[in-house]
Amino acid sequence: MIYLDNAATTKAHDCVVSAVAKVLSEDYFNPSALYLHGTNVKTQIEQARETIATQLKVNANEIYFTSGATESNTWVFNSAIKNKKGNVVISAGEHASVFNNAVNLKSKGVEVRICPLTNDGRIDFNALKNLVDNNTTFVSVIHCSNETGVINDIAQVVAYVKSVSPNCLVHSDGVQAFCKIDTDCKNMGVDFYSISGHKIGAIKGIGALYVKKPVKIAPLIIGGGQESGMRSGTENVAGIIGFKTAVEYYAKNYDINKVSIIHKKVVDLLKSCGAVINGEDNNSKAIISASFSGIRAEVLQHVLCDCGVCIGLGSACSSKERNNRVLSAMNVGEKAILGSIRISFDVNSVLDDVVNATKIIINKARELGF
Ligand code: PMP
Repeated sequence: MIYLDNAATTKAHDCVVSAVAKVLSEDYFNPSALYLHGTNVKTQIEQARETIATQLKVNANEIYFTSGATESNTWVFNSAIKNKKGNVVISAGEHASVFNNAVNLKSKGVEVRICPLTNDGRIDFNALKNLVDNNTTFVSVIHCSNETGVINDIAQVVAYVKSVSPNCLVHSDGVQAFCKIDTDCKNMGVDFYSISGHKIGAIKGIGALYVKKPVKIAPLIIGGGQESGMRSGTENVAGIIGFKTAVEYYAKNYDINKVSIIHKKVVDLLKSCGAVINGEDNNSKAIISASFSGIRAEVLQHVLCDCGVCIGLGSACSSKERNNRVLSAMNVGEKAILGSIRISFDVNSVLDDVVNATKIIINKARELGF
């Protein structure tokens, strides 16, 4: 099978599977136990925290492990905004785990302002300037779109927001950016940054939240005091060590030039058959959103599955609602949205396989009447 839905999730790398298995069978001790085996496991967790912090160019004591980015995003929304007056600004391009948290805030009476996107998928910076004022207490803008791969200039957003509202806290969802483009959180100036393991070949159910010191965030789970008292509960050691291993694997093997070549080849092939690429500028190169107007993308996906090619239909988390909120915000027409597919790569994607798969996609789209 040629798997091209890596923005939804990835196959765990062999080194991750081995690292996870080692924890489960050999290093299974409770990290809070005071005997040597336990403290060794605790040391491994702290090394993993260091690895992830280094990748984000932050300090290890600013990283909290979570069950994934949905949890990280929800944590930020629930605690950073608590008891705060003023307004909240998010972009129309957010993943459901941010967008629906904002909808939830709105239902609790918080004023939520939604920044529109340009037609090429970035936040409309001029619109942002009109939405942010000195009563804005929280802003969340996705770093790299899970629908289109388009990158937002987070440093520019943070600089503007803080110039207008110096105490405003800024969050970015970095799930699709992490390990693929520069995610220097100190340079960006964000207060919070969410990441997830299973998008980079770690296992599902592990993620992290960066919280810039000395920004205060309320504890997520109260209990035995793990994660510096911020998220109690015995740590997901296998997940954490697997996450570290995946980050190291990406740092060593992810070749943006290779991915860019694959990206260009696929985009050229798709364009030459008449498909339209959604938001192609300033892309991470790991995600392509393409529209085959006039056909139903879910039928194409189904047919391709039978041919051994696995593609996405946009965010897997919201695949039940086929009206793609993010593509709509980019003014993509209804027919184009219904015919939109998402192709996404990982560190191990191979040019020849991807090109073959793309030719199959095009042939099957034509058979369906495109
Ligand atoms: N944000 C983005 C941009 C994502 O792509 C995803 C995964 N679909 C998430 C958040 C949620 O991450 P997790 O699956 O780790 O909860």
